[in-house]
Amino acid sequence: MGSLMAAVASFLAARSCAGRWLVRIEDVDRPREVAGAADRILFDLERFGFEWDGPVWYQSVRQLHYRDALDRLIAAEHAYPCACSRREVQMAALSGVDGYRYDGRCRSGLPEGGKTRAWRLRVPDECVVYQDGVQGWQSQNLPQDVGDFVLLRADGCWAYQLAVVVDDAEQGVNQVVRGADLLDSTPRQICLQRLLGYAQPKYFHIPVIANSRGEKLSKQTCAPALVEGSEVRQLWTALHLLWQSPPRGLREASLPEIWQWALSHWSVNGMPQKRSISVAVDQSLEYTFLKLSK
Ligand SMILES: [Zn+2]
Repeated sequence: MGSLMAAVASFLAARSCAGRWLVRIEDVDRPREVAGAADRILFDLERFGFEWDGPVWYQSVRQLHYRDALDRLIAAEHAYPCACSRREVQMAALSGVDGYRYDGRCRSGLPEGGKTRAWRLRVPDECVVYQDGVQGWQSQNLPQDVGDFVLLRADGCWAYQLAVVVDDAEQGVNQVVRGADLLDSTPRQICLQRLLGYAQPKYFHIPVIANSRGEKLSKQTCAPALVEGSEVRQLWTALHLLWQSPPRGLREASLPEIWQWALSHWSVNGMPQKRSISVAVDQSLEYTFLKLSK
């Protein structure tokens, strides 16, 4: 349901202002890739009646572009090699928004005999401030909250932050609509956009659904899977959880009818400025809001 909500929100945001909606498969994290997962996602999108514009981009075939971007950052001395093992990084870690942050020990050069394992960004000493279309003004102090983050990992995989920034720029993305679980990543992406001379898209971070303990719903926290054959019901629920107040009668509509309603009513104005919303899910897959306090 969380993935469906992000797809619905971004699709409606794009189409309600005559924009194009792009589908990109972010498959650079090779050790975690599941065979057939990308095809399954595209099949599910079609099942719900989504139509995307242009070809689907696969990050796994775009690695030379990430290499070019990294080379530019290295040439400008914005990136540096890091010799630390995962264990060394964790032993010396300081606290940050992701739980810990790198202490920057390779910033002024590799240690004696050290080999390059990963490449990191030398984060500028500044606060990134931007206005999110849902969450309002956001600010993050990169050195204190994040530290020098990884661009190319020791296992040879490209970091999500670099890959999305390069692809967003090359695809001409000017609006990013996604779950608020990615809110803390955005300043890193804005920082990279500035250093690489890319335009900054407008960001909209929608509240994600969570259980009563505030944990994002996922397979690990027993989120129910989207069963085939009840697409309209599930779209109705996604619209309901996206604060669109769909009329109850729309649950019996056809796919084109519910999409038409959703397109003509899309608005982010009523959405709460919250990272997550607690919901309960019952046996018949009905979602109920648990509490609406700030
Ligand atoms: Zn290091």
